Amino acid sequence: MDKKDFKLLRQKMVSGQLASRGIDDPKVLQAFREVPREIFVPEAMQEFAYQDSPLSIGGGQTISQPYIVALMTKLLEVKSGDKILEVGTGSGYQAAILLNMGAEVYGVERHLNLGQEAKEKIKALGYAIEVKIGDGTLGWNKFAPYHKIVVTAAAPKLPQSLFEQLAVGGRLVVPVGSRFSQELTVVVKKGKNELSSQAVCGCVFVPLIGQEGWDESG
Ligand code: SAM
Repeated sequence: MDKKDFKLLRQKMVSGQLASRGIDDPKVLQAFREVPREIFVPEAMQEFAYQDSPLSIGGGQTISQPYIVALMTKLLEVKSGDKILEVGTGSGYQAAILLNMGAEVYGVERHLNLGQEAKEKIKALGYAIEVKIGDGTLGWNKFAPYHKIVVTAAAPKLPQSLFEQLAVGGRLVVPVGSRFSQELTVVVKKGKNELSSQAVCGCVFVPLIGQEGWDESG
């Protein structure tokens, strides 16, 4: 498949999977029209890059379904210049979407190979990103506070460190629930110790493994 074919698949994904399901923010839709998803999936899977499903990126991890990435992006209410922490950078696709929308992005990924590859791919697209390899349940204090935080793995509860690193007025999107099914949750920080929280829909993510997440052992 060449670049033109992928571009066509991308336009179809935007109209058939995103706009048709209520992703109505033009800036979100534009980012999905522009960021080449195929480069964030393993080469052998590129022909499936625009499928309406998550795909394996190795090591038991996944690149999320396009609709879920779009929904999380919409829920973040991204503005150009926002400083955003992404916990679970994985393939780098979600980060590339946020960067395309003009955000400053800090990524934390626990798998070294995924984090390094994501950083290289994002840089090859011409964006600047900082990626740390480590336990993202503890956030990344060095660059806090963040206007937005997105957690792309399933948490048993809201990690306190992430709430602390969110700016007052900031938004945090995180799947919260059991290891096998969660509610996609939007938290708004109303004050130093005050928040509002809204469950948006059911979802299924790989577990967030770490000090303020799940144990590695299960
Ligand atoms: N946002 C990614 C994308 O666009 O491809 C999808 C991420 S995948 C669904 C979840 C990622 O979270 C995996 O790459 C996994 O290694 C990572 N992860 C799980 N626990 C983590 C933790 N405590 N800190 C950082 N990354 C973590």
